[in-house]
Amino acid sequence: MEISELITKSASEQRKALLNKEVSASELVDAVYKKVESIDDKIGAYNSLTKEFAIETAKKVDEKIAKNEEIAPLAGIPLALKDNINLKSYPTTASSKILANFVSPYDATVTQKLKSNLIPIIGKANLDEFAMGSSNENSAFKIVRNPWNLNKVPGGSSGGSAAAVSAGEATVALGSDTGGSIRLPASFCGLVGLKPTYGRVSRYGLIAFASSLDQIGPITRTVEDAALLLNVIAGHDEKDSTSLNQTPPDFTKDLKNDLKGVKIGYIKELCSEGLADDVSSAVQKALETYKSLGAEIVEISLPLIKYSIAIYYIVATAEASSNLARFDGVKYGYRAKDVDTLYDMYVKTRAEGFGEEVKRRIMLGTYALSSGYYDAYYKKAQQVRRLVKNDFDNAFKKVDVLLSPTCPNTAFDIGSKIEDPLSMYLTDIATITANLAGIPAMSIPVGQDKDGMPIGIQLQADCLNECKLLNVAFKLEEAVQFNYKNSSMIAV
Ligand code: GLN
Repeated sequence: MEISELITKSASEQRKALLNKEVSASELVDAVYKKVESIDDKIGAYNSLTKEFAIETAKKVDEKIAKNEEIAPLAGIPLALKDNINLKSYPTTASSKILANFVSPYDATVTQKLKSNLIPIIGKANLDEFAMGSSNENSAFKIVRNPWNLNKVPGGSSGGSAAAVSAGEATVALGSDTGGSIRLPASFCGLVGLKPTYGRVSRYGLIAFASSLDQIGPITRTVEDAALLLNVIAGHDEKDSTSLNQTPPDFTKDLKNDLKGVKIGYIKELCSEGLADDVSSAVQKALETYKSLGAEIVEISLPLIKYSIAIYYIVATAEASSNLARFDGVKYGYRAKDVDTLYDMYVKTRAEGFGEEVKRRIMLGTYALSSGYYDAYYKKAQQVRRLVKNDFDNAFKKVDVLLSPTCPNTAFDIGSKIEDPLSMYLTDIATITANLAGIPAMSIPVGQDKDGMPIGIQLQADCLNECKLLNVAFKLEEAVQFNYKNSSMIAV
């Protein structure tokens, strides 16, 4: 197989080629960089490349293979790392002007795990500034374009991670998901995206957006690759006080189980009104497929979903306003010039360093936390959040997995929602409840709309049930045989 073809394949297929010595890890990394050089000015997936690191890592893999030593399952597989996750000695910008010149002094825990598995990191992937957004138009540096159609958004906020995998500029990627930022871009770019159970993956070294919602997770071409990458990054970490002290299972172990007796609940509130026609038919088709695979289909009502956007935009902005207080021009990052007093320095640094959406969120969050409004907004939102979690707990007494579309629509045109934050926020209606409830959720591609854009189906399971989730996803993937290689840029 030509190497230009091999870089468009799944990690598992690339591993076979590595082990059979049809290709070396160095050649694979080199081919991916050639691809990046030839198309990334059109896509905008990367903020920066980490060539030295990737080349060195690939060499280590090749040495091991030459000596017939065992290599980790994803060793040598090119990965895109979202640019809000620290890689020591390389820039981490969160796509913000305020961190434009920041170089990470340490590795995130997930990055260390990538290193010990000898996974070459190709570069730092573009995102919405501080992971705030659904379209990747909020990056302070450049927008990201959808590799399926360059006039469409790739989804956000992990748009660079998804576009890189979809265009052949990486084989797998890590994103972060606070309200859907792994699943939405996966859905818009025809990929698999998985947000793990809250606490499953360490957040140490991830630039915090909303700490009670953030999770790092994989964006990949196949469900199996997602399970393999989750195997790499999951596990307890002393450096993150919210990390679960539980040994993770092998996430590939149940992939192929049959679905007889598995109960799948479609979420009534997300599967009926307001869906694009093609998305609605895709949901129906997915349900029929599951039925034919022996699963039992049940309707589940989650009436509190209608409050989820309101809850999320109070909790997330409140936490963000607190987390982003550290960017004050004193310790690191951008500092405004020509100021007379310390106060002026704070104000000017933040006014110049943050983009519009970030400022909007800091203001909303500060308001929600201010005395006099705290009880009415923040406390109330946390109380309703608990009720949402209760709804999920009850649902998971009846079913194993919940199904809905990942988003009511497919990828939209660049520029079409950016002036209207509320309509942008609504794209997250199906995804944010999983973060509020802390449960694992994933998006898998099932088809294309009339314009050829990918459609994603979301599956959600109870806390710590990733194995079941991956099994149910794997079976649908197997039945659907979605061709992720239809992305217009992958073969260029
Ligand atoms: N689109 C949502 C937001 O803008 C979710 C972002 C995310 O998951 N990081 O907050």
